[in-house]
Amino acid sequence: MNSNQTTGLNWDASLPILRDTQLRERNSLGFAATAELSCVIRGAEQIPLLMSTVLSACIPWRVLGGGSNVVLPAHLPGITLLMEIGGQAIISTDQTATQIRVGAGVNWHAFVTWSLMHGLPGLENLALIPGTTGAAPIQNIGAYGVEVSDLIQSITAFDCTAQAFVEMTPDACQFAYRDSIFKRQPQRYIISAVTFSLPKNWVPQLQYADLTNFFSSQKNLPSPTAIFDAVCTIRQNKLPDPKVIGNVGSFFKNPSVSQIQLTQLLNAFPKMITYPQSNGSHKLAAGWLIDQCGFKGVQRGAVGVYEKQALVLVNLGKGAATELLALASEIQAAVQDRFGVLLEIEPVRM
Ligand SMILES: Cc1cc2nc3c(=O)[nH]c(=O)nc-3n(C[C@H](O)[C@H](O)[C@H](O)COP(=O)(O)OP(=O)(O)OC[C@H]3O[C@@H](n4cnc5c(N)ncnc54)[C@H](O)[C@@H]3O)c2cc1C
Repeated sequence: MNSNQTTGLNWDASLPILRDTQLRERNSLGFAATAELSCVIRGAEQIPLLMSTVLSACIPWRVLGGGSNVVLPAHLPGITLLMEIGGQAIISTDQTATQIRVGAGVNWHAFVTWSLMHGLPGLENLALIPGTTGAAPIQNIGAYGVEVSDLIQSITAFDCTAQAFVEMTPDACQFAYRDSIFKRQPQRYIISAVTFSLPKNWVPQLQYADLTNFFSSQKNLPSPTAIFDAVCTIRQNKLPDPKVIGNVGSFFKNPSVSQIQLTQLLNAFPKMITYPQSNGSHKLAAGWLIDQCGFKGVQRGAVGVYEKQALVLVNLGKGAATELLALASEIQAAVQDRFGVLLEIEPVRM
């Protein structure tokens, strides 16, 4: 039902506002969730029209892309913007790099595939990450030794404070490990497009152990397409397909500890998996910590921990956010108790 007349708010007549939108198909955990109001955003020009009403009426709002990094409650009050701005185009090229502008609603994996088909390597390590291109900068998606911020030139976003579109440099985005200004200030920016700069002197990124092993018997350097294929194969063997088992990929971030903490932890747990960071700190493998606490494969009602990877929490059928977050708290408490380390939840709780 179109609710332009029924919400009591003075929406611009061109906006396709809907009431009671079901979001089960729009979140990779597969939770049943209803958006009180929703609006599919197909063009950037819709955003200021919509937000002028939202901000003046002070109603709750949020953006939903592919729903692959959110834990949705049963009811989402106010309005949910369903991001579907399409389009990708090469906007400039010179001897050093090619710039591509991509609409926020473009499927990320489809864009990675498109870039390789156009002879533009650089994103192959990030193949098969679910979701939209506009959400990729939010938590600075990363996989197999590459972070998306390495290849972003600028971001076009509607700034809800200034009520105007802004063009943001990577510095302004404050990118960090699974973090950015967008994640820290969730009610401020709505990303409408991302511009990438893909360098022409392509260098394969094979330092990640899974990829090193995959190509260990090969004498020549693999092509970008071979790396893309390898990443897809490795991911399909490791992670559950959300269409089959609801999940959001890694549920916790890998925690960071100081050199002193690391020494103490390694004395007590010599087999602990750790990764040195360039700033002198160390990351711990969150999946290993959870596994050591005996959670791999456990079930709590209709949710559980994936049997092959303890970092992935799953919806086994009719699970809900409350159940999943209770399991997450149980895991956090157990890891804190055993290792003295706090696990931070990665997906956004809406
Ligand atoms: C099987 C699986 C594997 C995964 N593997 C990885 C991985 O390897 N690396 C990794 O980093 N992540 C991974 N993820 C997490 C997820 O795919 C990424 O975080 C992805 O970028 C989320 O995109 P989305 O469109 O689904 O965002 P959503 O889940 O819809 O939204 C995530 C957050 O971004 C905000 N948002 C979305 N679009 C916009 C926009 N246009 N403007 C402003 N805010 C916006 C939302 O409000 C929300 O806060 C995985 C998830 C799954 C299910």
